[in-house]
Amino acid sequence: MNNKVYFTPGPSELYPTVAQHLQEAMTQKIGSISHRSKQFQEIYASAESGLRELLQLPDEYEVLFVASATEVWERAIQNNVRRESFHLVNGSFSKRFYETAQELGREAHVHEVPFSQGFHVESITIPETTELVALIQNETSSGTSMTVEEIDQIRDKTPADALVYVDAVSSLPYPAFDYSRVDSVYFSVQKCFGLPAGLGVWLVNDRCLAKARELQEEGLSIGSYHTLPSLLEKALQSQTVETPNVLNIYLLAKVVTDMNQKGAEQIRQETEAKAARIYTFLEQSKLFAPAVEQPAHRSKTTIVANTTMPASEVNKHLAQYDLQVGSGYGKYKETQIRIANFPAHSMEQVEQLLEKLKELGS
Ligand SMILES: *Cc1c(COP(=O)(O)O)cnc(C)c1O
Repeated sequence: MNNKVYFTPGPSELYPTVAQHLQEAMTQKIGSISHRSKQFQEIYASAESGLRELLQLPDEYEVLFVASATEVWERAIQNNVRRESFHLVNGSFSKRFYETAQELGREAHVHEVPFSQGFHVESITIPETTELVALIQNETSSGTSMTVEEIDQIRDKTPADALVYVDAVSSLPYPAFDYSRVDSVYFSVQKCFGLPAGLGVWLVNDRCLAKARELQEEGLSIGSYHTLPSLLEKALQSQTVETPNVLNIYLLAKVVTDMNQKGAEQIRQETEAKAARIYTFLEQSKLFAPAVEQPAHRSKTTIVANTTMPASEVNKHLAQYDLQVGSGYGKYKETQIRIANFPAHSMEQVEQLLEKLKELGS
């Protein structure tokens, strides 16, 4: 029996209703149904309509299921970039998208700021020839985030034809985007949706689809089975191209229904209340300090702190109480801790975590 509460930034604690939905999935033998069955189409449609409600997604958007957010990086470049992309980079995930564009032979431009820093939108210049602007709303490696207002300001600086892509992998459904001001938003389910890993959700508008068709008509390669036109053709029938992760799509439909019952606004308020408690603790602590200096750029969902005690020692202490936080990312493994503040984490669990961190001497 594992009683641990995972504050790791993904995979993380599962949403509290997942165990019960998983049991029901077994009873219904969801793992055995055909992905061409009517039953699957209903599951797909339920997940899609639930997400449309939760995120307030406009009609010109499609909801596509892929393997992961990492896959979206590759598909985005293949389908939506003929030559040039532009990337905002302030940590490991945003950098990886940039590198993907280079590996696929595109001319990738970058505006990079140091780890732990947010972007100053005023100082960003986007070349006129840019076809895709890659933003990262929540950089999980460093705990920095962009506000919705900043994303809107980037749109104003983006060439009219270019597509704005937003990585919201470790923050949705927290940010209330103006979807009419961006073109694509994507996430993986093992972060804020509190599900097991193995499913990516790619939200695209009609502009992304038109661009993919344009490249295809020019005779350029836009990939193979997961091109936007082939994903769309199946999505319109509530189906996928390949045999998908049916179980996870089923669980997503259920969890999104639960989240809608609570309401997106309530989830946002709870996220902010828990984040405020965590940051207040970090600011008062002698051992820990928020890694991101500017409060406006501090993530609400993946909170990163510098630690004078090695992260492994912090987790050794927490393990006695069945608690675990994330270690720092990459070279910050021991000098930072990362605390996930996802909808699956209750205020009670957050308070218990802070109480045990306090015991380390603060
Ligand atoms: C986790 C994460 C990814 C990658 O997600 P996968 O499911 O591993 O593909 C991308 N971007 C951000 C910001 C992430 O936190």
